[in-house]
Order: sequence, then structure tokens, then C-alpha cells
Amino acid sequence: MHVVIIGNGIAGINVASALSGVETVSVEVFTAETRQLYSRVRLPEVLAGTSEPDDIVFHKPEWYEKKNITVHTASPVTAIDPDGRTITLEEGKKVSWDYLVLATGASANHPPLPGADLSGIHTMRTMDDVLTIRSRCKAHPESASVIGGGLLGLEAARALKGAGAKSVRVFEIAPRLLPRQLDEAGASLLEKSFSAMGIDVLCDVQTEGFLPAADDSSRASAVKLKDSRVFPSDVTILSMGVHSNTELAKSAGLAVNRGIVVDNRMRTSNPAIYAVGDCAEFDGIVWGIIPAALEQAPVASKNILHDAGLLPEADALQYVQTVPQTALKVGGIELMSMGKAVLTPEESATGAFLELRRVWPDGSRYEKFVLSATASAEDGGAHTLVGAILYGSKAHQATVKKLLGTAVDRSEMEAILEED
Ligand SMILES: Cc1cc2nc3c(=O)[nH]c(=O)nc-3n(C[C@H](O)[C@H](O)[C@H](O)COP(=O)(O)OP(=O)(O)OC[C@H]3O[C@@H](n4cnc5c(N)ncnc54)[C@H](O)[C@@H]3O)c2cc1C
Repeated sequence: MHVVIIGNGIAGINVASALSGVETVSVEVFTAETRQLYSRVRLPEVLAGTSEPDDIVFHKPEWYEKKNITVHTASPVTAIDPDGRTITLEEGKKVSWDYLVLATGASANHPPLPGADLSGIHTMRTMDDVLTIRSRCKAHPESASVIGGGLLGLEAARALKGAGAKSVRVFEIAPRLLPRQLDEAGASLLEKSFSAMGIDVLCDVQTEGFLPAADDSSRASAVKLKDSRVFPSDVTILSMGVHSNTELAKSAGLAVNRGIVVDNRMRTSNPAIYAVGDCAEFDGIVWGIIPAALEQAPVASKNILHDAGLLPEADALQYVQTVPQTALKVGGIELMSMGKAVLTPEESATGAFLELRRVWPDGSRYEKFVLSATASAEDGGAHTLVGAILYGSKAHQATVKKLLGTAVDRSEMEAILEED
């Protein structure tokens, strides 16, 4: 049985690895990338120059040899024929399969803002992107910016600083950084620590477009905001979200929404074709995070084996849904945001919640607990911990994780806040 996998990201390679132990199965991976699997999460290190491309490669060539996995790099797939069970490569060659796995991942959004096609405007998704940005920073180190102050944008900004950019700015459309994870107090501390790194954060601003350099009209040298302010920027990273790579699936007639629609066995609308990772949508959700890819890959491989009669039904896994991880690192700062951590003005106005806070005097740490304010007789007069923000330290992460959703005393939570 021959399984073809399109995409050598973490999802595709994990499916390949899980299938490789089965003697009667041969696995071939095709990828548009020019390199073997590397850690996308660590790309900012390469941009900052603290790691080199080889440092973040996952497996040595021997690993692929031992597992008998053939990866064809620089081999974009241009079409799928579901009836003839073939794929077509860009060079025109056709390759047959018995089962096909789509692990085509996602691409960074590149909105068509005026000037967004000038040189110096980048997205950061692949190693090639990062190496281009890195050399751009060397050639034009005066000013850089990131459009979008989400987690990835903030990491990119820090990496630009590391890459030698003298001035770095982040432009964020929301009124504060990470509005879903942080309240105003937390976001303001984060802004201050970025400012201490030499990175200016401008929130509540909308980018209108990019202006060409006076001496070279093909090169962008400034960001123009909707409020007419203009900031120099020789290197600009657009960090404005990602979209699943679904074109191949769509052309092959598979069901596609935001991602390629799969069932709980990671099967697409064609039972011989599976989809996993950032390109797959299960129950209306495209996760776009590594834990989802890692959970989906074994489900796909087991079900392919089951479908081919090589594994009993009892061993065919089913995907439930991924529980997102809540511990983050933003610009080197620990951050955990759980449950109802940020109340809406309406929620605050109801008086149904009680917020306990502590800001450490040097501004390096901030913790907040959100308790439901009505102490019920049933739980012994206790409150329920419904949300928390732990910024700047991991010290209370394990304790608070355990308490979330349980009955707690106000004094108990205040005592935790007092501890360092
Ligand atoms: C800078 C950065 C930091 C991140 N940090 C985190 C983090 O901290 N935590 C986290 O959980 N996630 C993080 N992510 C997201 C994470 O990297 C993705 O969720 C993960 O890489 C998805 O893996 P994947 O295998 O589904 O897709 P991808 O890694 O996108 O791989 C898809 C592969 O398919 C190939 N491909 C696509 N179309 C074709 C085609 N037609 N023909 C051939 N090949 C094709 C692509 O070239 C690519 O190699 C980060 C991402 C970036 C960019």
C-alpha cells in the first residue's frame, strides 16, 4: 500500500513516522519547501541570529533513512485526481497513491493594502521568509515594524530587534495588546516591557498602506496610518493572521470551509483522502497550533491502517478536539491566561464577579484572579475561581490551574497573591 503525504510540516511528518513502522506500507512525502522539517516556532531565533537554520532542523538524514520515509523537497503538488488516485507535481510528473494525506498547513495573510507589494514588506511563515527578512535587516537596519500585535507579531518584533533593527514599532488595531488574554493592567505592563526592549507599541491604530523610498520606488520605506501619521520602516512584517492552504482540496472537489473539512477520523469528504494540521477543519474549528497537529496525526495514520484492513477497529483512534494550551511566552515573558480572565464592561457592571489583583512594584509581574461573587451556601460560602492572569512568573501556574473552576475562599486566593 502506498501513502502519499502533501506537506512536510509537523503534521505531515508525524503521519509519515506513524505509518513507517508497518512493513507493507510505503510512504512518500512531497513538499514545496526546500528543506526538511524544522521548527516553525523557533523561526524568530533564526531571524534574531541566536540560532542558525541547521540548529532548528528536527531530524538528521539518518532518521528518514531508518524510517524509510522519502521526502521530496522543492516539489510543489499542483493537482489531485481523486478518481485516478494520482497527484500531479509542478514538473508535470504524476504519482499514484492508495491513500492521500493533505498536510498542506497554512499561509500568512498578505492583505492587499496599497504598497503591500513593494519590496521590504514581508510575512514570516517559512525559513526562506526568515532568511530574506534577516538579510533585509542587515542591508537596511535603520527602522523596522510589525503590523499586528498578536503573539506572533510580538515575537517577530523582538526578533527584528535581535536582527539589528535600530528602531522597531508594532502597530496594533485593537485598543491594547492581546485583548483576549490580557486586561488593561496586564497589557500596559507588556507594552512597558516591550518599550524597555526598545520596541514601541502603538495600539488602536489602523495601517493604511506603505510608502515607497524617495530614492527607489520599488522599495517600501514607511508605514502610513489611517490617521495620516507616517513612520519610517525599511523592513515590515505583516502579522495579520493565517489561512489554511485549501486550494488543492477545493480543486479536487473536497468539502472545504475555512479549512478542509474532516470527520473524527481525519477523513475528508473522500474516504481515501485525509487531512491533518493547520489545513484541517474539524467541527467548525481550524486550530492552527502544534498540539492539534500532534493529536490529529496519529488519528489519521491509525485510521488509514484500519481502512486498509491492517488494524482492528478497536485500535482506530478518534479525534475529539484539542484543548488549547494556555501557557505562553511573549517576548520572553511568562504568561498564563485562563478562563474568564478578561471581563467585558457588561460583565463587570453586573457585580457578579470579584477581581483580586497584585502588581509587583517593579512592574515585572502581575496576577489577577476573577471569582464569581455570589458565595453559595452549597459550596460552604466559597466563591468559584472563573479566570486568572499570571504574568511574569510561572510560580503559581500549577496551583491556579488546579483551582480553576473549583470553589475557593477569597482569603485563600488573597494568600496566593501575597506569595512570591
Ligand atoms: C513564527 C511562528 C511561531 C509559531 N509559534 C507557535 C507556538 O508557539 N505554538 C504553536 O502551537 N504553534 C505555533 N505556530 C504555528 C505552528 O507552527 C503551526 O501550527 C504548525 O507548523 C502547523 O503544522 P502543519 O504541519 O499543519 O503545517 P505547516 O507547518 O504549515 O506545513 C505545511 C507544509 O505543506 C507544504 N505545502 C503546502 N502546499 C503544498 C503543495 N501544494 N505542494 C507541496 N507542499 C505543500 C508547505 O510547504 C509546508 O511545508 C507558529 C508559527 C510560526 C510561523
